[in-house]
Amino acid sequence: MIAPKIRFCQLCGGLLPDYRNGNSKYCSGECYDINKANEAIVARKKKALKIILLRNDNLVHDIYTIEGGNIYVSAKILIDKGFNWEINAGDTTLDNLKVKKLIRYGYTLFTNQTVKIWKF
Ligand SMILES: [Zn+2]
Repeated sequence: MIAPKIRFCQLCGGLLPDYRNGNSKYCSGECYDINKANEAIVARKKKALKIILLRNDNLVHDIYTIEGGNIYVSAKILIDKGFNWEINAGDTTLDNLKVKKLIRYGYTLFTNQTVKIWKF
């Protein structure tokens, strides 16, 4: 005799009834639908973050180009153009400096409000 495999709902943690499909991860249609809605919200947020990240990268690219490749600029230039300081693609370290990654560029914000632009 094969012992029945006990499965739990990935959303509510409840026991999956035996009649649920073998591949099902949710105990009910309701849990499935809620999960699907949650995933759609996460996907929308990810897309919005991507757009902001791209916008940040384009802003830095414009400044880098206008400044003739000068890698030190005032943070005020970025602030005035609506740069979003909350959104980046993670941290890295270059020349012992903490760098916030964007896409084609990264930046280091110094306490004196100077920004060093890194071109990758
Ligand atoms: Zn459930």
